[in-house]
Amino acid sequence: MSILSAAVLCSIGEAKVAYAAKARAARARSLRLAQRGQLRGPSDLSLLQEVGQAVLSVEEPEQLEKWEDGGLAAQSSLSTRQLSELGDHITGETYGHQLHDIADISSSRFIASAGNVKAAEFMQSEFEDLGLKVWVEDLKSSSDVAQFISSEVQRTGAILGRLNGTDLADEVVMVAAHFDSVNWVDVTETAPGIDDNGSGLALVLMLAKTLAKSKVNLRRSVIFAAFNAEEEGLVGSTQVAPIVASGKYGNVTSIVIADEVAWPGSGSGQREAIFETLGTVHGTTALLDTFAHSAKEGDGVEGFKVNKHGFGSDHMPFLERGIPTVLLIEGDNMHHADLWGHSSKDTFEHVDFEFGASMSRLALNVVAKLASPEE
Ligand SMILES: [Zn+2]
Repeated sequence: MSILSAAVLCSIGEAKVAYAAKARAARARSLRLAQRGQLRGPSDLSLLQEVGQAVLSVEEPEQLEKWEDGGLAAQSSLSTRQLSELGDHITGETYGHQLHDIADISSSRFIASAGNVKAAEFMQSEFEDLGLKVWVEDLKSSSDVAQFISSEVQRTGAILGRLNGTDLADEVVMVAAHFDSVNWVDVTETAPGIDDNGSGLALVLMLAKTLAKSKVNLRRSVIFAAFNAEEEGLVGSTQVAPIVASGKYGNVTSIVIADEVAWPGSGSGQREAIFETLGTVHGTTALLDTFAHSAKEGDGVEGFKVNKHGFGSDHMPFLERGIPTVLLIEGDNMHHADLWGHSSKDTFEHVDFEFGASMSRLALNVVAKLASPEE
């Protein structure tokens, strides 16, 4: 190799590193803008698209690590067999039907669309049909959504349904997903939101149906919840978090959030999950251990990583108030986000019902364990 070509290669390497750093910074900026709904004009939009392509070649910005057992996994009063049989009805077929029911509500669940109202009504009636105690929190006015809906327009902030526990009914496990969708490329166009977050909403409904109909003894109560306006900056969950922290819903001991759980990924590491939290919050080690043990026992999720530096979804407002919360998300979510997320391309083409069912059974196993502590 000549000196000249070595120098050329070296400068290409430096340029690649510089480009990668720039791409990641720009992507972070565009995501923040998108979350705040502040993407304006063609230059911001083309930046988002350009960066989405560029970031495919750079390393992931998520701070993933290997799980190490803290020895704090929840011990259930249910047998391993009872726990595994609970998930028998959650198959690729039933999960697919559930996801289609959600998609059929409307071609958009964007905050400004009629589909957003219909989705809230759908969740309420599904919870009511299961005999849950159901209530709704109105979306309070917020600058994050004010540019899309006028202040007179009423929207639901969250729909909640409670399944009462037995001897520990005042202690609550919550499982939630956001029901809104968005198309940041053109907010007037379709926003199917199949993976983001029809998939998580389907998970919550599958768990609600399974646990409401089950005969197993859940000592703690379970609250199922659907949040609005996640896409404009975690608006619904941010308004619900202080209510949860106040104790109004009982003593909420742990929360599981599902956001993008049905795309199995491409390349290496397919059919894997990420368990994401803030490692500094007390009680999160026990939650991560519970997830990890359930994943190792289970059934379709082929591997997982943990992220103790969470960002960007409905787990954050609860973690910021010290409530142990874990986000369950598909391992390759960044790739999905870069190619299809927050656009008309988030369709059934880019999800896998079997994987969504596996993620749902995993969440079910975790929630059932958390709700049935050993005496
Ligand atoms: Zn989402």
